[in-house]
Amino acid sequence: MSNVLSKNYDLAIIGGGVVGLWCAYFAQKSGLKTALFEANTIASGASGGLLGALMPHMPTQWNGKKQFQFDGLVELEDLVAEIEATTGVSCGYARVGRLQPLSRPEHLNDAQERCAAAHDRWQYGERQFEMRIVDEPHSSGWPDSDVMPHGAVFDDLSAHVNPRAVTAALLKSIAGQVDIFEHTPVTSGENKKMTLNDGTMINAKDFIVAAGLGSFDILKPFTPSLAGRPVKGQAALLDTKLDPKLPVLFQQGVYLIVHEDGRTAIGSTSEREFEDARATDQLLEDVIAKARMICPVIKDAPVAERWANLRMQPIGRDPLLGRLPDHDGVHIATGGFKIGFGIAHRMAQAVLAPITGSTPIEIPESFRIENRVNPA
Ligand SMILES: Cc1cc2nc3c(=O)[nH]c(=O)nc-3n(C[C@H](O)[C@H](O)[C@H](O)COP(=O)(O)OP(=O)(O)OC[C@H]3O[C@@H](n4cnc5c(N)ncnc54)[C@H](O)[C@@H]3O)c2cc1C
Repeated sequence: MSNVLSKNYDLAIIGGGVVGLWCAYFAQKSGLKTALFEANTIASGASGGLLGALMPHMPTQWNGKKQFQFDGLVELEDLVAEIEATTGVSCGYARVGRLQPLSRPEHLNDAQERCAAAHDRWQYGERQFEMRIVDEPHSSGWPDSDVMPHGAVFDDLSAHVNPRAVTAALLKSIAGQVDIFEHTPVTSGENKKMTLNDGTMINAKDFIVAAGLGSFDILKPFTPSLAGRPVKGQAALLDTKLDPKLPVLFQQGVYLIVHEDGRTAIGSTSEREFEDARATDQLLEDVIAKARMICPVIKDAPVAERWANLRMQPIGRDPLLGRLPDHDGVHIATGGFKIGFGIAHRMAQAVLAPITGSTPIEIPESFRIENRVNPA
């Protein structure tokens, strides 16, 4: 290993989740000599999940953060097509839209406002995305008509991917182009040098820390005030044979997503307090029961997999993005929380732009690292 690490890299990426993988993808495309360090195995953290919902923020009260996500959601479609074409791996991407049932009449006014705001805001070049109110379920049992007594809001912007297929495709597209070190945690000490556990220093001009929850320990010597909290999430996969063109359903905090193979992903829970981050429990069973009630077509479907992991929510909630103030060459890209798969590629492009000299991508004020670090 010391031989390899005597290599000088243009860029070292720390963390092999979806954010680190997109960083590696664009870095190698720009010709940077790149290394990717992962403490465990690639995509073994939050990015190894089952859901893959690509959901826009509400179009009302528009701001820079919503624009960043909107652009990310639109642009992901072509980027996925690009990695699918080069790797032959299908990412299970489908822009199927989303149905959000309206269970109470007072939600109608809000829904109409959202439809008008979507019409104004959801424009990308020639493309226009819409939200509209519908009266009937999409198809029989999707969802049960009883759960939408006042109709539902349908939008044609929402989509989904298979998270494991996306990370597999990204890994395949960087293999051989990027030096990948699994089971290789990175730390930094008082001397502010990025090192491996045995003290070996990493030689790189730039570092991107995309280590999810691990990011704060790595960056403590640089910016002790940065912090985030773990929020556990649980999800399940049901062995169904449904039409993958069915819209994503979002009702009572539960997502139902039919993936490319006809199986239905259901999620998720949100727990600030937990004992075992990787164990599933009754909370997930409750979500599954709710999903079966929303859509009786899945009522008897066996559970193929249950999964749990930690999402990282930065203090201040929004993602953290950009170069650390006063520390040339150290950058952060993390904190997608519940929407990471829809924005990871754009976070990667934004953090890489000053490194590669490519066209800058506007980073929302609330994501900018300089606005989130307290003065020492
Ligand atoms: C139950 C659940 C459901 C979700 N559903 C959705 C959804 O439907 N749609 C969506 O967009 N998002 C969803 N998310 C969120 C999404 O999974 C995350 O936003 C995304 O995976 C975050 O990616 P990441 O690369 O920042 O972090 P991670 O995937 O956690 O990657 C960070 C990596 O860094 C590594 N690491 C940590 N410390 C070190 C170190 N010191 N050295 C080297 N490596 C290190 C870790 O091992 C890990 O592999 C969900 C999350 C959960 C838990």
